[in-house]
Amino acid sequence: TKANGKATPSPYVSRPFDVAAVRRDFPILNQRIHGKPLAWLDNAATTQKPQSVIDAISRFYAHDNSNIHRAAHTLAARATDAYEQARQKVQGFLGASSAKEIIFVRGTTEGINLIAHTYGRKFLQPGDEIVMSILEHHANIVPWQMIAKERGAVIRVIPVTDQGEVKLEEYQALLGPRTKLVALTHASNSLGTILPVAEMTQMAKRYNVRVLIDGAQSVAHVPVNVQQLGCDFYVFSGHKIFGPTGIGAVFAKQEVQEFMPPWQGGGNMIRNVTFEETTYAEPPARFEAGTPNIADAVGLGAALDYVNRLGLPNIAKYEHELLEYATERLSRIDGLRLIGTAREKVGVLSFVLRGRKTEEVGRLLDLEGIAVRAGHHCSQPSLRRFGVESTVRPSLSIYNTTEEVDRLTDAVKRIQRG
Ligand code: PLP
Repeated sequence: TKANGKATPSPYVSRPFDVAAVRRDFPILNQRIHGKPLAWLDNAATTQKPQSVIDAISRFYAHDNSNIHRAAHTLAARATDAYEQARQKVQGFLGASSAKEIIFVRGTTEGINLIAHTYGRKFLQPGDEIVMSILEHHANIVPWQMIAKERGAVIRVIPVTDQGEVKLEEYQALLGPRTKLVALTHASNSLGTILPVAEMTQMAKRYNVRVLIDGAQSVAHVPVNVQQLGCDFYVFSGHKIFGPTGIGAVFAKQEVQEFMPPWQGGGNMIRNVTFEETTYAEPPARFEAGTPNIADAVGLGAALDYVNRLGLPNIAKYEHELLEYATERLSRIDGLRLIGTAREKVGVLSFVLRGRKTEEVGRLLDLEGIAVRAGHHCSQPSLRRFGVESTVRPSLSIYNTTEEVDRLTDAVKRIQRG
């Protein structure tokens, strides 16, 4: 803010999206791969980091590093403040009502495992049902399968249309008195479909069912407010939103969290320990055993600041235009089958190319400096629904350009011609 109290306008907000300025914030983009400028189109796997995030992490280690919560000295106080401020930033970003509802974890996978092992293990009874979509990432399937097996619960799957949109009537038909949990990805990492999670949460709530949303693919692209969504859990990974790897967050509604037993035991999560009995700390400390990933939480806070400066609605608009451009260009290529054509999508373009193995396409694109994913994207059931085991998957983010999309389509055409 300026001295007169007026907020300094963000350099980006309310202007046309300045992709050249955004690109300058990401030092990694300024390099050549096999002699060609790097086109990073693997954003669904992980995003690159702006200088401000890199600086925040190195500043923390250069000036403030200490363990948190446990010492009387100045650096412990600074590190604790920095860590708790990061928690508040996540709270603000997700629109949670209290920072206590935010638990730091390693990422989406650990977050869903935490919920499965605490909430799931305590509340799932034999015959209870967990409803999920066929579009889920393995991280939102396997932990539930493991706990369902242990507890005698059953998984029910919502199918999708040929466009990759969930069939809401079939979802409605799956909901009932046996449903204990609905676990949905907000956006599919293999097809890009954005699920109508607000509507689907409302439908679940008519049966008093708890709802978990996997935000790994949405958090960097779609504005989220967990209170408006009405979900009980929302989970995401820092590295998918320009933050570091090894840090992520679980939003768990206070009324649910209070009844969740701890998962890992150790320091930080206790109130009092004797050899006879241990009592546990209140959430979120109850779920954060041991020394947490302090520096990367600080890095995540800086990443959320960065996204807030750009403004998620601006990001969503820019990426949507780029997605439409890329969809139009790719669909014109003879022999290319685009999988996932939902009306509401994040910038994921999954395709197969007639007569070419996906891994081969990925490798040939790399020779052009273009980084894409080729494989099953840890979402095998979603691809098998479309009769394929693997796709080539370019995925878009804030620093991608129409020129990069042109390079991609030209390269794919060349690969197609052999
Ligand atoms: N859920 C979805 C939809 C994802 O796309 C991913 C990552 O690819 C995950 C979960 C797992 O995230 P992480 O590997 O960061 O734990």
